[in-house]
Amino acid sequence: MMTSVAILGSTGSIGTQAIEVAQMHHLRVTALAANTRVDALVQQARILRPELLCIADEARYPALKEAAAGLGCRLLAGMEGLCEIAAHQSSEILLNSVVGMVGLRPTLTAIEAKKPIALANKETLVAGGAIVMDAAAKNNVPIYPVDSEHSAIFQCLQGNRRKQLKKIILTASGGPFFGKKKDELESITVEQALQHPNWSMGNKITIDSATLMNKGLEFIEARWLFDLTPDQIEIVVHRQSVLHSAVVYEDESMIGQMGVPDMKIPIQYALLYPERLSCPTKPLSLTDYGTLTFAKPDFETFDCLTACIRASEMGGSSPCIANGANEAAVAAFLARKIPFLQIGKLVNAAIDTLPSETLHCYEDVERADRMAREFVAEHLTM
Ligand code: MG
Repeated sequence: MMTSVAILGSTGSIGTQAIEVAQMHHLRVTALAANTRVDALVQQARILRPELLCIADEARYPALKEAAAGLGCRLLAGMEGLCEIAAHQSSEILLNSVVGMVGLRPTLTAIEAKKPIALANKETLVAGGAIVMDAAAKNNVPIYPVDSEHSAIFQCLQGNRRKQLKKIILTASGGPFFGKKKDELESITVEQALQHPNWSMGNKITIDSATLMNKGLEFIEARWLFDLTPDQIEIVVHRQSVLHSAVVYEDESMIGQMGVPDMKIPIQYALLYPERLSCPTKPLSLTDYGTLTFAKPDFETFDCLTACIRASEMGGSSPCIANGANEAAVAAFLARKIPFLQIGKLVNAAIDTLPSETLHCYEDVERADRMAREFVAEHLTM
């Protein structure tokens, strides 16, 4: 079993829950990194005493220096700091739970350093799936999914023959606007979009859940993690978020993984794999739920989902473009610069307008991502 972990994105929703899991199982936390929240980061460092402490936003480095004085941690900043943590000698596994494309370079750095990765940063695989999976295979580095759906699929694959896998069922909660049509979504406010029925998460992923972009990103993520073709993935709306996903084998047996909607279960499975130890979560009572429901997604209303599936079929840099366009569009929505439905319009327009190119290296990914963000900035009021 792993005994030490480094955490990127430690003050976020996944990061704080991972710390809870680490404490329960006496994992040493060797390094912590946050994006902007210096105070929360230093608070964690006071308790965990990591060797390395990093603030990704370099402008806040002086504040970190002041707040962390006397803690005995080596202080780092920026992308260089994130990458130093990713390759840190004394951690056995890296939990990458940063939000967005920014997680890609640290992931690649960890792979080069032959560190197993618990991956919660889905944009890493969406934007750079080809180079990440290639590097992981070359360096023989395992990637353990933290995303609840992908953890479920990973769990359902244990003890079975991968080559007899027929397809996967990727479940979706449907988000807060399930059942609504486009005309009802026109005037959705930031506050309304930030309410999620089942999961409590960071702002970016909550908006992605409301647009179903999150499921689109997960569709692409699943393709890379499990080496699937698009027609091997069926998306099913399951409002209760109890069945976290399922797999179907050649004999038509469907095996699913269930649990209460609590990220601590997949986080712990990724950190302690293959151990299944007591987890700081609630037990699942099927009789408390009584009914579980399943429905087809509304691809027309939730056109971010459709954009991701199309981008995945287009291949090359198209998924990276969809992701970059979405990151920029979500930021614009949160800044109240564009209406809710504009996010989907921009993502679709970006993949249809920008050329899909083969991605050979990190720089190719970065260029496609930048083009997508520039496209969105220029077409905000499209
Ligand atoms: Mg998920």
